[in-house]
Amino acid sequence: MRSGNTHIKRSAKIAVSLLYFIGLQIVRFASRAVGRSLPQRLVVLYYHGIPNRSNFVRQLEAIRRGARVSPASHRGSLPAGIPSVAITFDDAYVSVAENALPELVARSFHSTIFVPVGALGAHPTWPIEHGSPDANEKVMSAEQIAKLPSLLVTLGSHSKTHPRLSRLSAGDAREEIAGSRAKLGDLTTQDIRLFAFPYGDHDAATIEMCETAGYEFAFSTTPTPVDTTVSEFVRGRVKVDPSDSSLEFFLKYHGAYAWLAYVSLLKRKLRDHNRPLMNCIAVQVKR
Ligand SMILES: [Zn+2]
Repeated sequence: MRSGNTHIKRSAKIAVSLLYFIGLQIVRFASRAVGRSLPQRLVVLYYHGIPNRSNFVRQLEAIRRGARVSPASHRGSLPAGIPSVAITFDDAYVSVAENALPELVARSFHSTIFVPVGALGAHPTWPIEHGSPDANEKVMSAEQIAKLPSLLVTLGSHSKTHPRLSRLSAGDAREEIAGSRAKLGDLTTQDIRLFAFPYGDHDAATIEMCETAGYEFAFSTTPTPVDTTVSEFVRGRVKVDPSDSSLEFFLKYHGAYAWLAYVSLLKRKLRDHNRPLMNCIAVQVKR
């Protein structure tokens, strides 16, 4: 039943994204007709494990034919007339080193790997979605991290122990954010400038901690394409998986899942709006 619901939800997202994509094309066409062009945006993809190569290769080939790859930290304008994508991986799984990196390097595609630096060489200690192939994954060891080709792979921090940062005390959150930057920096010659929030969980306080710790950008899991001409500190990303269908992946790397960010915002606003009413009802019920 649960997988049936998941399937329906996934199909509904594809259908709405397709409409969103068609709408975007109409707006783009109309803008060009009046001598204007819509600004280019960077779509930052995020993967977790890559359990086998074939589906991942199919997606890389789609990108090679239809898009341009940029680093996730790209600043300034983007090439016109073609989608720009950045490729990132959360959790630094061994399968990324074994299956994804050889294919990325073969195509000279840049990628960013976000490392939970307190879990090196171990199975994830944080909860993994039921049935996910990531349950069998291991995080790369310190030696594997040190050997990654630094010209094509940027390392970023993904905290130490992969907690929900907004639920920690200020001291613990700071240790996860700033402490992980120092610890990861000890393993590599790279200056660690990027951070990805575990589960995308962040608030104003954790954003400020990331800025104070010296990060240049922090990455969320909100699928909003990035305007690389402005220096917004938190950058959105869209979740992708090697098992995504060709249409699903096409829509994702064209930024057509951006509407989901508006739905989350609307849900949050409704929740905040209804909270006083719900609290009032709870008080009445207690009485
Ligand atoms: Zn993660």
